[in-house]
Amino acid sequence: MVCLERIAILTGGGFAAVGKEDQASVEDSQKVIGHGAVQSIAEMLPHGSLFAVLVLGVFCTAGVHVQAAGNTPGSPRGSPYRIDLAQYNQALLPRVRTLLEAAELAEEESVPLFELLPEYRERLSGNFLIDGFARARDATRCLTCMSTSYLFLSLYNETIVDGQGNTERVWTIARRICRLLGFKRYLCEGVVSLNGAVIEYVLRHRTPFPEPEDICQVFLQELDCVRDGRNIIEAALFRSVEITPPDEATLVASTRDQPGSCPSADLPPHRKYRKAPLTIVHLTDIHYDPEYVVGVNADCKAEACCRPLPGLGVATEANAAGYWGDYRDCDTPWHGVVDVMEHIRRQHPKIDAIYFTGDIVHHFTWNTTIETNEDAMRQVFDLMKHTFPGIPIYPILGNHESHPANLYAPHTVEQSYRTDYLYNFIAKQWADWLPIDKIRPTLAEGGYYTVRTPFGLRIIGLNNNPCFVHNFWLFYSLDYYMPQLQWLHDTLLAAERANERVHILAHVPSYDDSCFVGWTREYRKIVERFAHIIAGQFNGHSHVDEFNLYYKRDDPAARPVSVAWNGGSTTTFTKLNPNYKVFQFDPVSFEPLEQETWMYNLTEANLTPDSRPSWYRLYSFRDYYQLEDMSLDSLHRLVLQFARSEPHLERYWRAKQKYSDPLLQDGCTGTCLRNALCAIVRTEHEDESACQMLYEQAAQPDVTVSNN
Ligand SMILES: [Zn+2]
Ligand SMILES: [Zn+2]
Repeated sequence: MVCLERIAILTGGGFAAVGKEDQASVEDSQKVIGHGAVQSIAEMLPHGSLFAVLVLGVFCTAGVHVQAAGNTPGSPRGSPYRIDLAQYNQALLPRVRTLLEAAELAEEESVPLFELLPEYRERLSGNFLIDGFARARDATRCLTCMSTSYLFLSLYNETIVDGQGNTERVWTIARRICRLLGFKRYLCEGVVSLNGAVIEYVLRHRTPFPEPEDICQVFLQELDCVRDGRNIIEAALFRSVEITPPDEATLVASTRDQPGSCPSADLPPHRKYRKAPLTIVHLTDIHYDPEYVVGVNADCKAEACCRPLPGLGVATEANAAGYWGDYRDCDTPWHGVVDVMEHIRRQHPKIDAIYFTGDIVHHFTWNTTIETNEDAMRQVFDLMKHTFPGIPIYPILGNHESHPANLYAPHTVEQSYRTDYLYNFIAKQWADWLPIDKIRPTLAEGGYYTVRTPFGLRIIGLNNNPCFVHNFWLFYSLDYYMPQLQWLHDTLLAAERANERVHILAHVPSYDDSCFVGWTREYRKIVERFAHIIAGQFNGHSHVDEFNLYYKRDDPAARPVSVAWNGGSTTTFTKLNPNYKVFQFDPVSFEPLEQETWMYNLTEANLTPDSRPSWYRLYSFRDYYQLEDMSLDSLHRLVLQFARSEPHLERYWRAKQKYSDPLLQDGCTGTCLRNALCAIVRTEHEDESACQMLYEQAAQPDVTVSNN
């Protein structure tokens, strides 16, 4: 996540700060800060996405107005105020310009930005709408994005395009705005210096020059910050994958087989040599922090903590970073990384393979270099090689592996901007596990590959980080990743013809609102077309223990066609217990037979820093949910049961949060639970049809819900 990144959302007059990566569904978090709470803008802004924040004008000025002004009612007549965006921007620009010309701010100084536009204060502090943005689900954040994007693009234009091309002045302005917003100096310096060149490249080369809505409709995709008349899901905005329809012969030959039911005589040789189930460990989102310091003040008021940071307050017993990690915004100390690997080796001596779905690098996104990222990755890959000799490992890249974080460039941009440095690096690092010479072309093109395993399964390792909405290259091109999706289709077509079964590994869950819908929709088409040979999808990035069912786009009432499993995370970021998963697969169909989640309770582990954490099996999926098997039909019956019974659904939610002490304390009821359920069956932004259908089916008394 985030990776992702924390998003400030106005809910009922207060801001809910949500770590999107650590909370797969925004609605899962109910942490609402009181009305009118005095909180720095930095605390309310997207977590770890400062780069994008900066470009947005960072500048949550409008949001701050509302927050700081408290929660007063709407207009005197009770109807929402309407905000004319153009007027608002015209009023804001000169006042921000004046502020930007001011001297640098002291570290502790904060500027009440809402005072810039006192004439709007009352209107923005109540219920309001933005003219021309009827669908926006959060007017405050949409206005913030639109107006600050306008500010930034205007200042950029007058300096670079119409002015003398003084790039340094633009970034001085950006640093200053960042500071005015309450971000710490070191963070502003880091973000601007790391990302400035890429932002400038995008703005110089994109045609036409972006409008604020080009940015906000992607960056705030989940909130539908889209101007009326525009449609972000219109196919015209991005290319489509060419789908080859199935022909009868291959379809019959490769009809989805159920575990244990395949007549092995008809199978190709690579799929019939073994009888015992396969054991595969799914490990993800390590987020190793090489500079983690046990005992340092973990309440650092920055995007990531548990390091010595400038201006950090004194450590006390209450705020000291735990030995094995910390529920606050902290990543994993090295001894925590070693511990999970060694535990897996001791606990599961007979594993056939490991899936690693990305994110080794920490969340200090303002403080990365290619060298330190590579050092961290090398250290972790070496540990994997040393701990699991002879065991095949299938790794993919996370959004944090790139430098700067989240940025995966199109292959067509100037050489020095491409992500080649990373693709070259992984080609060396992964050579122990993968046939590099065979996969070099796609690794070099975009960091993805396919291989057939020794046990006959085809694995497709995607690099879908370009779809992450905080990847600024999306503002350069909305569909530059399309060749990878076409390759995915073509690879699956070849697999179908060879009667293979496939597992797909991808870091960002395609169904997540943080994955741009241009990827999501095309990916979904591909999954539907080849569902009969895709025996499983495996994701990371959300850090939570979740699964997702894919229903047909045109027939959501029919049985689901595919399932994606999320591995959770090794990191505790944020408020989570470390975990990994162990799958048992049928050796012929490669369908899952069982899934276990292993974890330890962080509170308990930190009580005894001198001993290793007490890992335990949190649950076995079939036992926990009382399922006969893990077939798609059983999973469908399970989600129907969730729709009928809040206690069952709440049980899922607890497992999803990995029984985290702070999150369980927060709890989840009502809408929060419903959102958790809809998140399971939603595979495309704005498509709620499967969830509606589910609740309709659940209301039918004659629909059987099996619980065993
Ligand atoms: Zn992550
Ligand atoms: Zn991630």
